[in-house]
Amino acid sequence: MFCPKCGTENPDGAQFCASCGNSAGAAIIERDAVPAAAAAAPGTTQVVNVQMQGMVQKNGLGTAGFVLALIGVFTSWVPVLGWVVWLLGAVLSVIGVFRVPRGLAIAGTVLSFIDLILLLAVVSACSAVGVGAASLMG
Ligand SMILES: [Zn+2]
Repeated sequence: MFCPKCGTENPDGAQFCASCGNSAGAAIIERDAVPAAAAAAPGTTQVVNVQMQGMVQKNGLGTAGFVLALIGVFTSWVPVLGWVVWLLGAVLSVIGVFRVPRGLAIAGTVLSFIDLILLLAVVSACSAVGVGAASLMG
């Protein structure tokens, strides 16, 4: 299908133009769905079409951010590695929130916050242990 705004060819199922970001979905869906909808149940085809397009649509950055944030939950107690994974996951998730679909990106952002809390808890626990050990030693 072609973007009605800038004419760039986009893969079938794309809701937004890869070139100009125009949310071309509405116009394209209507054009594609009209013949089928007129032949069969009006409206039903369009709804299915929209759902299919939502499933086809991919948000690579948001997915990567979510996966990294998920890994970050388990690596948050690892010095340096946990911080790197958290930083990457948080950055990718926040960038991914501005793309569609943003479900995983939002989940990644929330997970990143949890990671940050875990990181801070680990850091404070480590310093507490350090202070405790120091006072035991001294
Ligand atoms: Zn376009």
